[in-house]
Amino acid sequence: MLTTPDCDTVASAGLSAGNLPPPTANPECDAVARLARAHFGVAAALITISDAQGQRLQAADGVLPNALPPDLFSRNLEVGKALDTVVVIPDTRDDPRLCVDRQGLAVRWPRFFATCALTDADGPHLGALCLMDDAFRTFDEGQRAFLRELATLAAQALGRARKETALRDRVATLEAGQELTTLALTGSGTGVWDRNAVTGEIHYSPAWKAILGYEPHELSNRIEDAYLRLHPDDLEHVQATMQAHFESRTDSYAVEHRIRCKDGTYKWICSRGKVVSRDRDGRARRMVGTTTDITALRDTAAQLQQTIDLITNLTDEVPGLVFQYREPVNGCGFFSYASDGIQDIYEVTPEQVAQSAGVVEALIDPRDLAAYRQSLLESAANLTPWRLEYRVRLPQQGLRWRHGDARPQRMPDGSTLWHGFITDSTERKRIEAELHELATIDHLTQLPNRRHFMVQCEAELVRIRRGDSRGAAVLMLDLDHFKALNDRWGHALGDRALSHFAELLRLEARAGDIVGRVGGEEFAAVLPDSDTEAAIGFGRRVQRRAAETPLIHGDNRIALAVSIGIDRMRVADAGAYQSLDRGDKALYLAKERGRNRIEIYRE
Ligand code: GH3
Ligand code: MG
Ligand code: MG
Repeated sequence: MLTTPDCDTVASAGLSAGNLPPPTANPECDAVARLARAHFGVAAALITISDAQGQRLQAADGVLPNALPPDLFSRNLEVGKALDTVVVIPDTRDDPRLCVDRQGLAVRWPRFFATCALTDADGPHLGALCLMDDAFRTFDEGQRAFLRELATLAAQALGRARKETALRDRVATLEAGQELTTLALTGSGTGVWDRNAVTGEIHYSPAWKAILGYEPHELSNRIEDAYLRLHPDDLEHVQATMQAHFESRTDSYAVEHRIRCKDGTYKWICSRGKVVSRDRDGRARRMVGTTTDITALRDTAAQLQQTIDLITNLTDEVPGLVFQYREPVNGCGFFSYASDGIQDIYEVTPEQVAQSAGVVEALIDPRDLAAYRQSLLESAANLTPWRLEYRVRLPQQGLRWRHGDARPQRMPDGSTLWHGFITDSTERKRIEAELHELATIDHLTQLPNRRHFMVQCEAELVRIRRGDSRGAAVLMLDLDHFKALNDRWGHALGDRALSHFAELLRLEARAGDIVGRVGGEEFAAVLPDSDTEAAIGFGRRVQRRAAETPLIHGDNRIALAVSIGIDRMRVADAGAYQSLDRGDKALYLAKERGRNRIEIYRE
C-alpha cells in the first residue's frame, strides 16, 4: 500500500537523479502536482525538470519511487512536433523504457505511468509531469487533455521562474557594475553631477561635495548657486563652453576652471559632461558629468613651468651660449639645445643648428678648425671635459675669439652628449696680449725689455745645447756720451735718440735675431747661427747707420755713436747671462779704447 510522502522520500528521489543542486522551490508547480494527484487519484504526481545538466525533481505529491522516472521527451531537450506530448504506459512491466534507471540498476516502478512534456512557450523542453500508481489503469482522451492543461500550467510557472531568475541575475550584474563605478569614482576623487536643464536643478554625488569640503547633505541644488561658486575670472568661459554644448556645437562639454570650496579657498577642477537627453527641438533636457580635482596637477604643472622659465631665463640671460650638443655614433653633431646667446656667439639661430652643427663649423677660423675637431674627438673618446679657445669669422663681428667649456657623457645609444657654454673671449684675449706686451716690450723703444730679452736668450742657449743651432754671437751696445747728449739737448731728445737707435737696430736685424733694450742707453743683440765675424759685420753696419742717419733737431743734425762688445754663446755656459757678461767686458774695453768701436772678448 502506498504511504504518505515525506521529506525523506522526496529527497531520496532527488538524490537518485545525480548530484545536481536541487531546483528553487516553485509553489505553483507544487500546487499542480497536488492537483494532478488529487484529480487523477493516483499514488504519486511529480514534476521533473530537465536541462543540459540532467534531470531533477521540481515538485512531488504522494509516495515516490526511489529513483526518478526517465524523461521520455528530453532527447535533445526539444520535443518533436510529431511526438505526442502525452505518453501513457498502463503496465510498466511491459515497457522496456522503464526497466532500469539511469545507472542501469533494476528498479521496481509502480505499475501505471503517465507523463506529459513540459514545454516553454518559445520551444525548449523543460521537463515532464508524471503520474504513477500501483494499479493498472486506463487513460481516456479527456484525462489526456486535462493532463496537458496541468502540464501547460506547470510549464508556464517554470518559464516565469526561469525568466525571473534571469532578470534577477541581470539586476545583480548591473548592481555590481554600478557599485564598481561608484567605488572607482569615489576612490579617484571624481564627483558626479546630474543637471536638469529644464528646471535648473543640479544634483551632486557625495564625492563631488567632498571635493569642495561639503557634507553629503549640504549645498543647494540650484544651478544659479553653482555659478556663484565659480571663480569670477572663469565664469564667462565656463558658461560659453556650456552654451556651446547645449546648442550642439560641441560633442561634449569639458572645461578646467576654479571653484570656491566651503572654506573659501579655490580649487582647480576639470569638469566634463554630456547632454544625455534633448527635446524634439534639440534643446537640452538633461546633462550628466564628472568633476575631478586637478589642483595638485595644476600646481605641479605650474612648478614645472616655473622651472622651465627659470632655466630658459638663466640660459638666455647669461652672457654667451649655453648648449647641449650631441654627436651620434655615425652622423653629424647637432645642438639639441642652444640658448639665445648663439646669435651673439655664432650669429645663427638655435633652429639653424638643431639638425646639424655644420653651419657652425663653417664659421670657425680655418687656422683653428682642425684643433676644434680634434678637441671634440678627444673629449668624446676619453670623456674628458672639452675646453678650447678658438677663433671664429662672423659676417657681422668679423674675427672674434671664443672660449668653450663643456662636459661630455655617453648616452645609452652610444652617442655623446655635452653640456656646456661658449663665451666671447675676444676682449680677454686683447687684454692678455696687452698685458703680455706691457710685461715684455719696452714702452719707449718698442723693443723687448731686459727680462723678455733674457728669456729669448735662454731659449737660444737651449737650442745651441741641443745642437739645433750652430752657435750664436752676442753683441752688447752702449751709446757714447749719452749723458752729455741729455744734458745738452734735453731729456726729450734723449728719448727720441733712444727710439731712433732702436729703429736702426731693428732695421739691421734679420728675422730670428734677438734684439732688446737691456738698460738705460744699453742695447743687446743675439745673432743665432752667426760667428764673431758676422757679429762684427752687424756691429759695423749699425754704427754706419747711426752715423749716416743723424737725429734732426731744429737746424742741428745729431749723429749717435755706439760702442760694441762681442762674444759667443757657449755650450758650457750655465746661463745666457754669462755670454752677456763677457760681451759687457768687451764693451768696457771698447769704451776704454776710445768709444765708437767694436771689441771682441778675449780671455
Ligand atoms: P759712456 O759713453 O761712458 O757710456 O757715457 P754715458 O754718458 O753714455 O754713460 P752714463 O752711464 O754716464 O750715462 C747714461 C745716461 O743715460 C744717464 C741717464 O740719465 C741716461 N738715460 C738712461 N735712461 C734714459 C732714458 O730713458 N731717457 C733719457 N733721456 N736718458 C736716459
Ligand atoms: Mg751706459
Ligand atoms: Mg753710454
